[in-house]
Amino acid sequence: MAHVRLFSGERMPLEMHKVRIVQKLNLPPVEYRHQAMTEAGNNTFLLQNEDVFLDMLTDSGVNAMSDRQQAAMLIADDSYAGSATYTRLDKKLREIFGFDFFLPTHQGRAAENILAQVLVTPGSVVPMNYHFTTTKAHIVLNGGSVEELICDAGLEIDSDEPFKGNMDIDKLVACIEQNGPDKIAFVRMETGTNLIGGQPHSLENFAAMRAVCDRYGLLLVMDASLLADNLYFIKTREAACKDMSIREITRKIADLCDVMYFSARKLGCARGGGICVRTDELYRRMRGLVPLYEGFLTYGGMSVREIEAITVGLDETMDEDMINQGPQFIEHMVGALVARGVPVVTPAGGLGCHIDAMRFLDHVPQTEYPAGALGTALYIAGGVRGMERGTLSEQRDPDGNETLANMELLRLAMPRRVFTLSQVNYAIDRISWLYENRELVGGLVFTEEPEILRFFYGRLAPVTDWQDKLVRKFREDFGDSL
Ligand SMILES: *Cc1c(COP(=O)(O)O)cnc(C)c1O
Repeated sequence: MAHVRLFSGERMPLEMHKVRIVQKLNLPPVEYRHQAMTEAGNNTFLLQNEDVFLDMLTDSGVNAMSDRQQAAMLIADDSYAGSATYTRLDKKLREIFGFDFFLPTHQGRAAENILAQVLVTPGSVVPMNYHFTTTKAHIVLNGGSVEELICDAGLEIDSDEPFKGNMDIDKLVACIEQNGPDKIAFVRMETGTNLIGGQPHSLENFAAMRAVCDRYGLLLVMDASLLADNLYFIKTREAACKDMSIREITRKIADLCDVMYFSARKLGCARGGGICVRTDELYRRMRGLVPLYEGFLTYGGMSVREIEAITVGLDETMDEDMINQGPQFIEHMVGALVARGVPVVTPAGGLGCHIDAMRFLDHVPQTEYPAGALGTALYIAGGVRGMERGTLSEQRDPDGNETLANMELLRLAMPRRVFTLSQVNYAIDRISWLYENRELVGGLVFTEEPEILRFFYGRLAPVTDWQDKLVRKFREDFGDSL
């Protein structure tokens, strides 16, 4: 356990690794940050990375690798077919998860493409705890639809429910009865539910889903991209599992599903993905699509160096000292912000800290994108880059009206083993300062609005000169500090 108790009685996360390669960071002055944000069209996706101090945009493909992963990359066996590197990954997957078949893909969404093409038919339904953007897109593209059956607590910002990612089992049964089992393409569980704040499900809930799938003869598919965090939460929050090892918990979860797919940009701390399959029959139905979309069956679009890193990364994921780092840093950040009265999603999940912009900026209407505005303000206040997850990330309806999101969140992702605690404390300080000065923060308006994926490429402007006022207040309060 890497949470230490201090003499004061407080608990503090303690890094169980040391840093051996570093990358220099820049923290440009606040006036420069304001200018950079203007040039980026007030869209954090359009900032230049060299202008960003703490990049909390995402945890995808940006987690730190270990010395063992780096070393393994040197022994990668470059060959199109029959690579020893691939055999090592295949063996490691069997050892940890116990599936007989594996299909490599270049990242998680490519696994979703193959699964959806094979399993989803026009008019079919995929019940799930919650959708992920790319998952839903692939299901819809193949003529299916998504039914989100998350437990009620999952959509509450403030909660003490330890497993907000749980599926509502009664709703699952009702959904199957209503549509008829023949209409259900498969049932999907997303571990570490991404879009509701990296919230976990319990082992007990997953077992209950298995029982329902057995009753109706349905396939149970797990999206294991965020499994590492979920394993940690099961170990620390589910009483029945507290004496089990991470390996044992992993195997219990894997044994419950027919198919498990993952993005190795998250699970395994490298870049790639794949699908683990229980039966030969299903494996054969999917196999043909790998060479078509990904690459030959022994690399699936991944470089052999990344495959070596994934193999070691998966092995290291079975180490509690490794997987606790993200959740413990996030818990530290969430706890400190709650103590300062800042509205955040609770309890702390995996993935990152999610600020509730709807409450933080309750004077900014949703049509002026409070989460997006808060993202620009935090970059100006501290050089910290987050990701808007609210109305800005939605699409307008066919008549051009705004689709208002259920939640307005500013996500501050916590790439694993990348930041130090003092960097996180700095982010907490700048967020707290912004909260004290929240009345200075105003909304945004589009100056250039693409029709699709507007949050990636769109350009915006502040509705008033509120950002200039924010810069002036920063100078008043912090003097010539960065
Ligand atoms: C990131 C993610 C994906 C997609 O994986 P990519 O490697 O980014 O394509 C799918 N599901 C979940 C839950 C994810 O977090």
